[in-house]
Amino acid sequence: MSDRDFHTRITIVGGGTAGWMAAAVLAPLTQDGYRICLVESDEIGTVGVGEATIPQINLFNQALGIDEDEFLRATGGTFKLGIEFVDWGRIGDRYMHAFGDVGRDIGIVPFQHYWTRARKLGVGKDLRAYALNELAARAGKMQRGKLRTTDKLPPMPYAFHFDAGLYAAFLRHIAEARGVIRIEGKIVSAELEGESGNVGSVSLDDGRSIEGDLFLDCSGFRGLLIEGQLKTGFEDWSRWLPCDRALAAPSSHGAEGLIPYTRATARPAGWQWRIPLQHRVGNGYVYASAFTSDAHAEQLLLANLDGAPQADPRPLSFTAGRRRKFWNRNVIALGLASGFLEPLESTSIHLVQSSLQRLLELLPRGTESDVERAEFNRQTAAEYERVRDFLILHYKLTERDDSEFWRACRDMAVPDAVQHKVDLFRGAGHIVRDEQDLFAEVAWLQVMVGQGIVPERNHPMADSVSEADLQSYLDTWEALLSREVRQMPAHQDIIAQRCAAV
Ligand code: FAD
Repeated sequence: MSDRDFHTRITIVGGGTAGWMAAAVLAPLTQDGYRICLVESDEIGTVGVGEATIPQINLFNQALGIDEDEFLRATGGTFKLGIEFVDWGRIGDRYMHAFGDVGRDIGIVPFQHYWTRARKLGVGKDLRAYALNELAARAGKMQRGKLRTTDKLPPMPYAFHFDAGLYAAFLRHIAEARGVIRIEGKIVSAELEGESGNVGSVSLDDGRSIEGDLFLDCSGFRGLLIEGQLKTGFEDWSRWLPCDRALAAPSSHGAEGLIPYTRATARPAGWQWRIPLQHRVGNGYVYASAFTSDAHAEQLLLANLDGAPQADPRPLSFTAGRRRKFWNRNVIALGLASGFLEPLESTSIHLVQSSLQRLLELLPRGTESDVERAEFNRQTAAEYERVRDFLILHYKLTERDDSEFWRACRDMAVPDAVQHKVDLFRGAGHIVRDEQDLFAEVAWLQVMVGQGIVPERNHPMADSVSEADLQSYLDTWEALLSREVRQMPAHQDIIAQRCAAV
């Protein structure tokens, strides 16, 4: 069959996590007259970081029919129940953005109103006492199977930490088995078609030319087609997210062992991640070069590893922001080619996933459609902006005064949407979820409370519950969750059991 016999030829440029996620998801289309090929360059390699995810990754893996144990084995994966933030509000503070619910239904208004009232009355505990995921995470526990629905416990969503390189290799295997063609080679140019201005083909350094009707630009920060060829433009968000460098360094496991959560520790000019995998710990310092030197950043990272470093720190540079269009002409940018938001809430891989979901919904069948492109761009831009706002919240709410970086974050003017959310919550505990916001109310709640906001008033409906009843509801809930956690096995035992040789 010649290339032209296919009704649509999709060419994926780049084989990092984004490229292989796209290839794996689109592979079934090869049964339907599509030709899908992926071009990647071993010489250029991938960004090589990206180890923490959010629970939606389960939907992606399930859609591909991936067996969870096989996936954990193949990627060195561990479970992730949330992210712990250390020293963000003030030095010494610790809170968690745990996945899943916090609290329970007490009346008709959301839990935080009853909790606020309880705190004002001097009853009740920190939010964490009412969050199953946080209790389990802090105890180093993990559920064995799905929680039974009859026991009235909240669901316990989880994500994974994994080796992104191994995940890409795992997906490659799936994609190739399902008909995707892999081409190894370095792209040296792209050719535009005369009138349409579309990209018609890419040329490799050995002279081969790969045509396509639709190109997915998964070429990483360089954005080979979306920027290099189409000059789409970039919306720079560094005035709100000033971190522009990262140093990544794997280490051996230290004393802490296999904890089921990511840790993000605020440092003088940024923050440090700690991500436990089975075979190593991923560490990195994300920092703002305007506030510290690379040498100092490296010293600080190496001084704060709890195991032994396994490689020299790897430097990465970036600018927070997004492409002005994600889908321009016949090129759709995915992954780092589409923009970058620092990994504070582990959202990059998810943004690939949701763009792929959108692409599948709007997939063109060889015909160009402005209206589909516009809708794709509208939804993707909104999602990026909501993630951006959630990240800004973490910086803006600091009370730290100990470094120039943190004073600048505290004093910066933030987008109106962020200020509005903070004001709504600070006043009467309201949290409103915007369209395309990946993060539910409970995520905003945990960060706002974790960084020191206590609403001035609770909803009047919460006053209808007596102090004694409030205390009893909260105590009962805490006891139920604590009992459940006590019965859970240790996270590392679950990993050992599920990854045992087959
Ligand atoms: P890359 O991995 O850079 O892949 C680009 C591909 O394009 C490669 O295969 C390369 O060979 C190919 N290519 C480029 N140019 C050419 C050419 N000329 N010819 C042929 N091929 C070419 N995400 C998360 O979800 N969680 C995290 O915890 C997380 N942490 C991160 C930490 C840091 C410091 C950074 C920078 C990113 C992090 N990310 C994280 C983001 C995550 O790493 C990426 O979103 C993800 O790996 C996707 O990368 P990519 O595939 O877009 O790009």
